[in-house]
Amino acid sequence: MVSPKAMSEAERERKFLAGEFDSVFSCDQPEPHKPLLNKAMRIKKPIYLKLTKLAKQKKIKAAKKMLKKCSVCPRDCRVNRQEEELGFCGAGSKAEISSFHPHFGEEPPLVGKKGSGTIFFTHCNLKCLFCQNFDISQCGQGFKMEAKELADAMIALQNRGCHNINLVSPSIYVPQILEALPEALKQGLKIPLVYNTGGYDAISTLKILDGIIDIYMPDIKYADNKISLQYSLVPDYWQIVTKAVKEMQRQAGDLVINKEGIAERGLIIRHLVLPEKIAGTRKVCEFIAKEISPNAYVNIMDQYHPAYKAYSFPPLDRPVSAEEFEEALQIAKEAGLKRFA
Ligand code: SF4
Repeated sequence: MVSPKAMSEAERERKFLAGEFDSVFSCDQPEPHKPLLNKAMRIKKPIYLKLTKLAKQKKIKAAKKMLKKCSVCPRDCRVNRQEEELGFCGAGSKAEISSFHPHFGEEPPLVGKKGSGTIFFTHCNLKCLFCQNFDISQCGQGFKMEAKELADAMIALQNRGCHNINLVSPSIYVPQILEALPEALKQGLKIPLVYNTGGYDAISTLKILDGIIDIYMPDIKYADNKISLQYSLVPDYWQIVTKAVKEMQRQAGDLVINKEGIAERGLIIRHLVLPEKIAGTRKVCEFIAKEISPNAYVNIMDQYHPAYKAYSFPPLDRPVSAEEFEEALQIAKEAGLKRFA
């Protein structure tokens, strides 16, 4: 029988929907991830369930206020999104999403047996010219959702057995996500929220999320601002992402995985290896090991392949070679990292 890891994502999802997934998963599954739990750290429920109603209301109010002269992300465009003025990202007053569904291609502690409940938000505050989802992030494919509909989507994913709500590219929609939360709670939301971000996040916005988000999953894409400007149109990525990841670690800490192998709380850092070392893997890994934690859970990713405009921008016009990926993994180990996805 084929292992779940070897199946395509579409095949996994087909099996999930056909109710065949449990039996398939029980055979030839990858090594379970080592639990990281002690008595003091035992986690019973998502952090947002511990927050008082008043504290939640204050956070919603503070986040909504940011939309008036938009400072939701570090672009700080100052446009009035409540009046549908558009800034760099192109997002307005309502949340826009392209799809929501159980996802089986995320990191194993998020996926488990029943999938990660992904909600793909439209638009982005980065303009990566190699973006695999450029139709969503940069061409605006998606539909607007009221707060109630976003809450309904979260509940639908929970009802399908997903282990978490995985908010993909949430940085520009924090006010709308918070606005949906009271309705989702009223309907019984009780699984962790995952903040799955490109890493270009404002500290002021992250502070509002303190007490709301259980699992932060930032990318660290580049270690050099000249490269980030060239390929993602962002001049200060390294300064912003390093501060943001420190704040995420302060709030959530090292990743905690329960004895069923499911992530409950903490930080997952993604780093996509790019051709000819342009992602700055050594500097990124040394930063994580020294300034975040040597116990950080890191996904060094090998799946880069050219998409969107990348064919016109060598060396991004080719995939990463096996040798380049092996070297990146070796660099991560030399830097002192030891927990890999
Ligand atoms: S969220 Fe969008 S409009 Fe607001 S500051 Fe960021 S890029 Fe500009």
